[in-house]
Parts: sequence; structure tokens; C-alpha cells
Amino acid sequence: PASPVSSLLEGLDEDQRRAATLASGPSLIVAGPGTGKTRTVTHRIAHHVVDHGLSPDNFLAITFTRRAAAELADRLHTLIGPAAELITVATFHSLGLRLLREQHARAGLPASFGVADAATQRAVLTDITGDAGAARKALAEFSRIRRADDPTSETGELLARYTAELRARDLVDFDELVLLTVHLLEDDARLREDYQHRYRWITVDEYQDIDEMQYRLLRQLAPPEANLTAIGDPDQAIYSFRGADVGFFLRFTQDYPGAPVTQLTRNYRSGASIVDGSLQAVRPSTLVADRALHAARSTPDHPITVHRAADERAEASFVADTIDQLLGGASFHSLDSGLVPGHTTENGVGFADIAVLYRTDAQSSVLLTELGRRGFPVQKRSHDPLTARAGVDHIVRELTHARTDPGQRSVADLVRTAAAAARRNLAEQQLPEVHTALDLLMPLAERCGRDLTLFERELVLGAETDTLDPRADAISLLTLHAAKGLEYPVVFLVGCEDGLLPLRWPGSEPEDALIAEERRLFFVGMTRAQDRLFLSHAARRHRPGSSPRATVPTRFLRDVPSAVRQDTAGVARRPRARQLSLL
Ligand code: ATP
Ligand code: MG
Repeated sequence: PASPVSSLLEGLDEDQRRAATLASGPSLIVAGPGTGKTRTVTHRIAHHVVDHGLSPDNFLAITFTRRAAAELADRLHTLIGPAAELITVATFHSLGLRLLREQHARAGLPASFGVADAATQRAVLTDITGDAGAARKALAEFSRIRRADDPTSETGELLARYTAELRARDLVDFDELVLLTVHLLEDDARLREDYQHRYRWITVDEYQDIDEMQYRLLRQLAPPEANLTAIGDPDQAIYSFRGADVGFFLRFTQDYPGAPVTQLTRNYRSGASIVDGSLQAVRPSTLVADRALHAARSTPDHPITVHRAADERAEASFVADTIDQLLGGASFHSLDSGLVPGHTTENGVGFADIAVLYRTDAQSSVLLTELGRRGFPVQKRSHDPLTARAGVDHIVRELTHARTDPGQRSVADLVRTAAAAARRNLAEQQLPEVHTALDLLMPLAERCGRDLTLFERELVLGAETDTLDPRADAISLLTLHAAKGLEYPVVFLVGCEDGLLPLRWPGSEPEDALIAEERRLFFVGMTRAQDRLFLSHAARRHRPGSSPRATVPTRFLRDVPSAVRQDTAGVARRPRARQLSLL
């Protein structure tokens, strides 16, 4: 007789259940957006801990961002209660930091080593080179040199001096959190076995975007026979500019021979038009030859709206006008909403249900202005925590001094002292940054009690500066890169123009490989939408640093078939009276 299905497996479909219940050994879950990959991996861990009685501290779940880690930890807690706290949920960087803290002596680091923030990295390099511009450039080169292990070049020598200087200050940098951990494990078989034993069950979400160092770390922790579950979608590989390589995903079954591959084919996130339209859009660059994906939702479907605006301000007005309509419950329903009750407010759609996505951060200012003018609450995040962290960096630099002698003081107290020191040392115009940062940091500081290490771990890894709160009653503004893994009932993807998406730097034509990655980025953006998707472009755009130019819609739009879309256009603004009077 069939054994009763665990309640932890209810709510999974047949394929998901198979992936969640696979016993020991490596396995790969490959599936398109919205098919429940992240959900499956969460239930897999919960099922093994509860139904098989495995020890939660033998589980390691690796996610791509701090935010994803927090969400996964949250969901595990809901499913299995306090035992969830014993599961290690980490990003590659936070895992590296944890291992280096435990093994600091082996790594040749003092127990109190700190992690250099971006400002410190630049300051150290500027001291060495005497030139801020050269310092910036060298930093960008370092990760490449570290990958190639090539210390002979000129930059290689600079890297050696920079590293020595960091050590003199008892610091490691962000990349080194992974790099030094890799070296530790590669050089010490005993240690490697210890960790393999501790982390006997490993899952990695978003596996299509791991880079070479992360791959090497994983290979140390998970030998070919390990209980490693890799999850991802090659068509959502969008981080090659940061060294990610989808090749690691594509060769998983060679690295882990015999690993079963589970495909999930039902998309539970989006309406049929969004599923079909996005699949057609990514098809010319797809890395998944035999992709099967269909919409599993039965709610009414909405075509994708493709809107042409006169210019970027008109585009922002279109976004704001549409939100206005969606928000008024009555008019929302007159748009024939197919929104499922449960993720919307009674009146229809709420601010938290809406995301506006763009390719470059520069596009956000016109949107912020327009949405702000209408009185809409907005929260914004960019994918690069270093373009948003100046004030935090100042405080953390001062805090590094406190680390040598924290005494019995609370973290909150230390942070206040550090902020005061930062204020004394900075120019007038930088003071607002420090104030903002202090506001941002205090809640975390207070949560950490006297545990400065915990504070640092959370902070360095961007938890607190990553200010996007999924529960906030606000419209989310974010880059396409930052939107990875997330979902919203209503999504606007603005700036669907050649030059922006695919992004083109002035004077250069992007290579085919780059265009393919930009197409995948377009795919990632489209597939964040559950119910309503708006793709807009402006006929003329004023990009900062150049004059307004006529644009052409992105070539990717040509692949969104007419059967699933509805094209609309804004009315061009009338010439101003001032201009007419000249006639
Ligand atoms: P992405 O590739 O964008 O990261 P994903 O494959 O990780 O997507 P999830 O975020 O896990 O997808 O799931 C997408 C949505 O579908 C979520 O809202 C999830 O709760 C829902 N979902 C997943 N599986 C099921 C199911 N079997 N029944 C109902 N809803 C489901
Ligand atoms: Mg996911």
C-alpha cells in the first residue's frame, strides 16, 4: 500500500515531488521561470529533516543574494519551526566568511580580522598607486587575475602589494572570502573532509550564475558522490559580466556522473500570454534545446501590453497613469482583472504588487520624480550595492578600529561612536550620507546585542543596505538584474529600446554573446510578472550626458508574437504655446 503523503509534500506537483524526495546522491533540477524550483528545494530540505529525521545542521542551502537567503530561511521556519535555525542558509560569500572565522588561524588571519568595504579597498590602492583612477581600474582587473592565478603581470604585482597592505590592516576583501576558503580546503584534505561531513546535504539555487571561484568552493564541499542538488535555468544566466559562467551548469552531469535530471514543466506564476510571449522572446538565444513549459494557472489571461511613448517623461506618465487605473479597485476590475484573490488587496491591486524594472539605474530618476509627484510610495534598489553604500562605508571604516577593542560595549553603542568619528573626518557635503546610513544601521545594530561579528557578517553581505522590503506598501523600482528570482502581480519593463536593452556603450556594437545575455535579461524581466505585464519604449530618449535622440524599439520585441500582445501608443505632447507664438 502506498505510504501516506507527508504534509510537507502536499502542494507540490508530481515532478516537484519527485525532485523533492530523491534520496541521496547528486541531482539537477532544470526548469524555466515560475515552475517552483525555489519552492521545491525548500520543501525538499523540510521533507528530509522532518520525514527522514535527518539532522538540520547537516544541511547547507546556498542562494544567490542575502534577500533570497532571508526568504528561504523564513519559509523553512514556517514549514518546520525552530529546527530551521540549525540549517545553514548562506550566500557563497557569507559561507566563506563563516568558514574563515572558524579557521582563521589556518588561514593566517587574526581572530578579529575585518572585511574591507569598497571605500577601504579604493583607499588602500590609492595609497599604493597615488592615483584614484588607476586604483579603480586595478580593482576591476583583480578578480580576473585572481581567477587566472597569474601573479606575473604588472597588475599581478600590484595585487600582491595590495593584498599585503590589507593583511597589515587585518583585513580581507569581499572576493577573498571565497578565494581564501577555496585555498584552505584545496590544501588540507582533513579539513575538507570535516566540512564535507558537516554539510552532507547541499542545495544551490540559481546554479546557472555561479562563477569559477564559487564552483571551486563547491567542488571541495561536494565531491562527485555528494548529496548535492543544483537548481537553475540556463536561460536566466545574466551575470557573465561579473564572471559567472553558465558552462558549469551545462556540464553538471559530467561533474556528477549519474545525477538524475528533473525538469519541471508547469509554470505556476504567470498567465498564458506572459509564459508564451516570454518563451518566444528568449527562443533565438535559448540554451535549453528541448524546453517544455506551459502555464498551469486557470485564471483569466491578459495580453501583454506593448506601449510606445513619445519620450521618457511620457513613458513615466504612462506608468503612473496605468498604476492609477489599477489602484482604483473599480477601474481595475473594468480592466478585466484576472488577479487571484489572496495576493491582492480587496480593492484590487496594492502598491506592493507593482514593480517597475529597468536596465540601467539612470532610468530610475524620471520614474521616481513622476511617481513621487503623484504621491505614490516607492522603494528602490539597484543591483550593485557599492553605487548606494557610501555612508555605510564611512561608518564601517571607523568601526574597524573599534573591532580591535570592543570591550563590553554593545554594537549599537560602537556604531554610534563610529558614526560620530566619521562625521568629524568627513567634508560637510558627505554628512547627510552618514545620517542616512546611521538610520539604516541602527535597527540591525540593536538586534546584534554585543555580537560585533554577527553585525559585520550581516552588514558586509548587504543585508541592511538592501532596503527592498517585500512587505512594504510601496511600488518597487529595481534593475533587471536585481529582480532575479522575484515575482509581482504587475510588472512594468521600461526602456525596451535598442541601445538600452540590449545595452550599448557609445561607439561600440555589442558582440553576439552579449546580445544573447541581454535577451535573457529581457526574458528574466518579462517572467517576473504574474498577471499584468507592460513593456514600454520611448520614441525619443534623453540619456544623461547626451542630447535627446530618436530610438528604435528593441529587436527583442519583434519576437513577442502579436497573438499574445496588445500595442498601444501615447499621444505626442502638443507643442507649447510659447513655441506657437513664434509662428
Ligand atoms: P524563477 O526561475 O523565477 O526563480 P522558480 O522556478 O524558482 O522561478 P518559484 O518562485 O519557486 O519558481 O515559484 C513560482 C510561483 O509558483 C510561486 O508563487 C510559487 O509559490 C508557485 N508555485 C510553485 N509550485 C506550485 C504548485 N505546485 N502549486 C501552486 N503554486 C506553486
Ligand atoms: Mg527561483
